Amino acid sequence: MRHLFLNGPVQNGPFTFATRPGKAVGIRLAAALNAILGLPPTPHLWNTVTLAGDLRHREADGPTIPRQRFEADLITDKYPPGQFPVGGIMTDTDAEVARLALEMIENNLCAGTLTISRETVPSCRACGHMTGTGSHPCNACGSTDTEDRTGLHLVAELAKDRPVLDRSDIHASHRQQPRHLQNTAGNVAERLILSRTRDHGIDLSPHGLDGLVLDPRVGIHVTVLAAARRHEADTAVMTITENAANHIAAHGQHFREHGGARLQYALHGYLPYDHTASLQPLHEAYRATQAIKESFETWFLPLFSLRTKTATSPEQLPALFKHYMRAHLAQPAEVNAAAFNAVQHAVGAGNVSWITNKQGLANVMAARRAPIPSAAGPAHG
Ligand SMILES: [Zn+2]
Repeated sequence: MRHLFLNGPVQNGPFTFATRPGKAVGIRLAAALNAILGLPPTPHLWNTVTLAGDLRHREADGPTIPRQRFEADLITDKYPPGQFPVGGIMTDTDAEVARLALEMIENNLCAGTLTISRETVPSCRACGHMTGTGSHPCNACGSTDTEDRTGLHLVAELAKDRPVLDRSDIHASHRQQPRHLQNTAGNVAERLILSRTRDHGIDLSPHGLDGLVLDPRVGIHVTVLAAARRHEADTAVMTITENAANHIAAHGQHFREHGGARLQYALHGYLPYDHTASLQPLHEAYRATQAIKESFETWFLPLFSLRTKTATSPEQLPALFKHYMRAHLAQPAEVNAAAFNAVQHAVGAGNVSWITNKQGLANVMAARRAPIPSAAGPAHG
C-alpha cells in the first residue's frame, strides 16, 4: 500500500506563515512524513471556498481581478520570499479538483448515496444566500429578511450500516484510535445538503444546480484525493486536527474513496508556537545554531504534534527540546538501515512511538543529511 501524506487544505484567511506558524503544522507534518518515506514533495493544499473569501473579493478594488487569481495572489503572499513550495500549491477549485469532484458526484448519484432533490431551505430574501436555521442576520449581506426557498439541491444520505468514521478512516495504530472523535463525528443529521450558495467554488450546474457550488467540506476531501491521484498513491493521508476532522468527516463520508484510492485522516494537535521564546536559556546552554532551532520548530514539533490529541502545552517545550538535542547529539555517523526501515514501517502503519525514542529519532535525523540506505545495508562508507 503506497501512502502519501497531504495537508488538510488550509483556509486562505488573513495571515502569513511568519505571523501564524501554527497554520503550517499540517503542511510541515505531511512534508516530514513523506520525506521519511522517500517520497517527492507534494503540493500544499488550500481551501478558498469560503464566505469570508467571497466578501473579501467583493470589497477589494477588484472584483476586476478574477477570483482564482485573487486567491492565488493571497496564497503566494503567505510564504516568505524565496520559500514558495517546491511541489507548488493546489486549491479546492483547481480544474483537476473540479473534474474529480464531478466524477465522484456522478458515481455517488448512480450508487444512490447522493440524490438531487427538491429541498426547502432558509435563504436571504435580499441576496439569496442560504442562511441556515435560526434567526440571525444574513452572513453575506447583513439583511434580516429571510424566507424559505424551495429548489433543487445535492443531498447526501448517510450510510445506515456503518458509522460516519470507523477505524479504517483513521491513519493510526489500533491503540491510538480516537474514540471520542468517532462518536462526535457521527452526531449529525441523516441527510446533509451538499450544495451551497457561494460566489466561488466547484460549480454544480453540470448537474442542473444552477448558481450552487459544492460544499467546501466535501471539496477539501476531493482536493486531497486529486493531489494523491497526481502522485499515484493508493492511500492519501490527510493531516488534520481533531476539531477540523469533526467538522468535515460527515460531509466527506461518500468522498473518501475513488478509483482504487482511499483517504484517511492523520490527527495532530496544536503547537504552542507563541511560547518558543521561553527556550532561549536552553538554546544558549546547548549552543543551538539557527538551523537547529528552526529544525526543532518546523520539523520536530510538527512530528511531535501527532502524539497529542488536542494540544502540546507550553510547559512541555523544554523537555521536548532536550529530547530533540539528545537525539541530535546521538546521530550515528552512518544511518542504521534496520532502525531507519523500522521507522519507515511505523510511519506507514500510523505508529508514532518512534518520535519520542532517541535512537529512532537520531536515525531519522541522520537520514535527513545523508542518502537513505537501502535495506541491504549502508549506502556508503
Ligand atoms: Zn443576504
